[in-house]
Amino acid sequence: MRNDVVHGPGRVVVVGAGMVAHRFAEQLCARDGDWTLTVVGDEPHRPYDRVHLSDVFTGRTAEDLVLAPEVWDDPRVTLVTGDRAVRLDRSAQTVTTASGRVLAYDHLVLATGSWAWVPRAEGTDLPGVLRYRTLEDVEALRAWVTERARTLGRPLRGTVVGGGVLGLEAAAALSTLGVAPTVVEFADRLMAVQLDAGGGEALRVLVTGLGVDVRTSTAATRVVGAADGAVGALELSDGEVLDTDVVVYSTGVRPRDRLARESGLPVAERGGVVVGPTCRTADPAVWAIGEVASHDGECVGLVAPGNAMADVVVNRLFGGCRLYERSPDGTKLKGVGVDAAAFGDVLGLTPGALEVTFADPVARTYRKLVVSDDARVLLGGVLVGDIELYAQLRPLLGRPLGADPSAYLAPTGGAGPVRSDLPDDVVLCSCANVSVGAVRAAVTEHGCRSVGDVKASTRAGTVCGSCVPLLTTVVNSTLETSGFTVSTAMCEHFATSRAELYALVRAEGLRTFTEVVARHGRGRGCAVCRPVVASILSSLGIGHVLQPDQASLQDTNDHLLANLQKDGTYSVVPRMPGGEVTPEKLLVLAQVAQEFGLFTRVTGAQRIGMFGARQDQLPAIWRRLVDAGFESGQAYGKSLRAVKTCVGQAWCRFGVQDSSSMAVRLELRYRGLRAPHKFKVGVSGCARECAEARGKDVGVIATEKGWNVYVGGNGGFTPRHAELLAEDLDDDRLVQVVDRFLALYIRSADRLQRTAPWVAAFPGGVAELRRVVVEDSRGLGAELDAEVERHVAGYVDEWRATLEDPGKLRAFIPYVNAPDRSDPDLSYVPERGQARPARPGERGHPDLLSARAAGATTLQEDAP
Ligand SMILES: Cc1cc2nc3c(=O)[nH]c(=O)nc-3n(C[C@H](O)[C@H](O)[C@H](O)COP(=O)(O)OP(=O)(O)OC[C@H]3O[C@@H](n4cnc5c(N)ncnc54)[C@H](O)[C@@H]3O)c2cc1C
Ligand code: SF4
Repeated sequence: MRNDVVHGPGRVVVVGAGMVAHRFAEQLCARDGDWTLTVVGDEPHRPYDRVHLSDVFTGRTAEDLVLAPEVWDDPRVTLVTGDRAVRLDRSAQTVTTASGRVLAYDHLVLATGSWAWVPRAEGTDLPGVLRYRTLEDVEALRAWVTERARTLGRPLRGTVVGGGVLGLEAAAALSTLGVAPTVVEFADRLMAVQLDAGGGEALRVLVTGLGVDVRTSTAATRVVGAADGAVGALELSDGEVLDTDVVVYSTGVRPRDRLARESGLPVAERGGVVVGPTCRTADPAVWAIGEVASHDGECVGLVAPGNAMADVVVNRLFGGCRLYERSPDGTKLKGVGVDAAAFGDVLGLTPGALEVTFADPVARTYRKLVVSDDARVLLGGVLVGDIELYAQLRPLLGRPLGADPSAYLAPTGGAGPVRSDLPDDVVLCSCANVSVGAVRAAVTEHGCRSVGDVKASTRAGTVCGSCVPLLTTVVNSTLETSGFTVSTAMCEHFATSRAELYALVRAEGLRTFTEVVARHGRGRGCAVCRPVVASILSSLGIGHVLQPDQASLQDTNDHLLANLQKDGTYSVVPRMPGGEVTPEKLLVLAQVAQEFGLFTRVTGAQRIGMFGARQDQLPAIWRRLVDAGFESGQAYGKSLRAVKTCVGQAWCRFGVQDSSSMAVRLELRYRGLRAPHKFKVGVSGCARECAEARGKDVGVIATEKGWNVYVGGNGGFTPRHAELLAEDLDDDRLVQVVDRFLALYIRSADRLQRTAPWVAAFPGGVAELRRVVVEDSRGLGAELDAEVERHVAGYVDEWRATLEDPGKLRAFIPYVNAPDRSDPDLSYVPERGQARPARPGERGHPDLLSARAAGATTLQEDAP
């Protein structure tokens, strides 16, 4: 055996050609000296990005997933694929493969990863029972679904056993393949290992909203065969039998430690090759890294620790003294269509830990930070529904938070403190183990001038991608302080800002995401750019939000043209311009609410909202409303919500203008106008301001001479009064000024930027905005007018258009073969003559109607 490592480790053999082996090869290739490397893998592919396996269902090919292949061109490196190592002879220092190769080594690195474990149960060997770990697995899934749908001649139902991160990814893959998925989870919540109870419940609501049927606190006990011998049903421990045409097991992984075990190397009780902090096994010539290595009795199923181990071994092979230390990690759900992430001490088990929680059932977000007893040090966090803070917070684990925890928990659009002043030693990208200091050095010392450059140079942000927002902040602030120009690129797929892309799409008349990305972007887009493109196309009046090429780009609420509620049902909010409603229309609302048992209330935006509609009921409810002359109130969209008003001159003795008529005019003009964020308008009939117009994005207040218009106001966590833009305008001029303001905002705001920060950041401030919008100093007026006119002329009610198109209506069927089936998890209790969702511990009725009826009985009985 060679112990002289000063000039290099000699012959290195790696068994397993997965993600961690690739990292090892990259690190080794960066070293000079006396060495050769042979990597032997049993999969037929070069090492690929397993983390993004699900992307093959949204268009990426196996070739696209291959990890930086240049490393295999190094003349010192040999990659063997499609051949399994079957025997390790430690005394001879050789590895023998299934094809008969005998590889002699000076150092052997075991990087054999894990295999997807399927519990022993009857029927798990039936055709149609699959796993989700390799490219072969996903190809087998695709082939099975295609073939089975052809054989059965109907849409398929599928079940994923396991509601963890990978199970949810598999469920999303089934959906993409057109299979209606059910997820069965033994624990009482989804992502049980990572989330707390509140986060798990929030995630269930979001996932259910995507059409995934979720069963928790129950286990799969038996797979039942169909008449032709393939999978036909799945029996659960609670006695239920789910009809199913495909079952995907995602019940955890087990380390592939057989080679080590058979060669006499110690393996841990729960599996995995035992290593110490040097990643060496009991045999000094044999190392183990990645998922197969058991350190401190634990194998870790993530890339980051595996990569850290690869780095340790390379360092040690060259005489270094680096030690592997498990750094606190986080988990982020991806590729599912909803966001969830967790890190650190999620359950607040650290002595004295404090939990600060913010749950917003309307925005469907749940955020929790766990901090030390003096609220200074960040110990952990759970983010569901909106995880923008994840990238920023995870690297601060165990460090001072730098602000009041509640400041971070403001809802979307609120100002979470953004920190670019992180210490150099903070690990920014845990997957590739890149520190903030290394990112800064990439800019200041290695000539990187954009996020893309830094990614290529350091590999930060190239694995799970969750650190990219923080990476962007650090790169941009370093560029700025070093005197370089900061890139305005929206994300890695588009080098343009949202405003620049808007201008390009508009000028070139592009009509689909595919066209936009082909002309101005690259790749297949991401969670940042896809909704932005959808919003730009909608703002420009191109197509219906649910048309096939746009539906997949939309945010979740837009998918069903309704707002998801905390119990997984939806609200129905028809437009009611000026807050006015005729008695005839009011009757229809009452009938619909009664018939479907909906909870009815007047909303804060002066309209009537009905709550508790199931996904499959939405079209029937809207059919009745549309027939009665109602249209979508777009309470779900990033668009005009409502124009709030007072009764004004028509009824009020103080009113100096007809505020109601103006509000109706404005609402009918801007209804359906999509923008970077939602926007609200208010119109008051005099300076008493009963409509609270200055708290709106656009506030109009009557004067003796006409109207004053204010812009950039909002309520919420960071309330802001709107600022005066123009005074004493007549009706038509007011409309023109508001048109131009909105058109300019839509053109030039950043993604998800509300008018308040946009106005605040407008170069030259409100004074310059006034010059551009009111005085037309840049000569843009006619263009901006035309943009709004085109919107007004092209407006169609989204719900009416949906009802007229059977293709779009299909999105509302949650269970393919049982459209009338209600959700067994729903439960209601009567309250004040209506029905509301039952709270934990409350015994409820299975549907709104029976709960409401029970409430009516109680009220009658209680009556004197
Ligand atoms: C769908 C999916 C999503 C994931 N998402 C994330 C994520 O978001 N973040 C994250 O950190 N992790 C994620 N993971 C986990 C991540 O992929 C693994 O942690 C990582 O791949 C482990 O790398 P590894 O090299 O140790 O093992 P592997 O990538 O499993 O590679 C081991 C390789 O060795 C081969 N092999 C085994 N035995 C032999 C033998 N005897 N001879 C030859 N070859 C052999 C195997 O076939 C395999 O190709 C995800 C995994 C999956 C399946
Ligand atoms: S704002 Fe003026 S006009 Fe409108 S209701 Fe109040 S007092 Fe009357």
